[in-house]
Amino acid sequence: MSEKVAKTGGCQCGRVRYTAMIDPAQAYLCHCRMCQRATGGVSIAFIGLPKCDMAWESEPDWYGSSPIARRPFCSHCGTPLGFAFIEGENMDITLGSLDEPYGIEPHWHFASEKIHEAWVDTSALPRKALAEHTALSDRWIEATGAVPE
Ligand SMILES: [Zn+2]
Ligand SMILES: [Zn+2]
Repeated sequence: MSEKVAKTGGCQCGRVRYTAMIDPAQAYLCHCRMCQRATGGVSIAFIGLPKCDMAWESEPDWYGSSPIARRPFCSHCGTPLGFAFIEGENMDITLGSLDEPYGIEPHWHFASEKIHEAWVDTSALPRKALAEHTALSDRWIEATGAVPE
């Protein structure tokens, strides 16, 4: 049984905002080269949903990334917001654009032939918290009064 939950999200600058009814069981990683190029990342965390479960409070810009698909983004700050087939009723939103993205787990890999294997399981790498980088933290506090969320 899937359980949909209302999640809000948007781009980095706040110009584009949305509310999506998401099913956390539809979260996955896409490794295809189109998504790598569209985001600059090694993969992209998506949540699949029907277009009718997506409500844009302010319209995103759309990039026609191929003859069959287009991608919502913000032309002011550049945030990638998702993927949508031009025909058909399904789309994806980017996990990182949710206001509260934690607690949602991926359930499968897509375009697995393009996986950057060394970047999938990085759990053995040393970790450093942002707050431990005091020179950077101090720069943030001086500029804005706080370290960003
Ligand atoms: Zn923006
Ligand atoms: Zn992809």
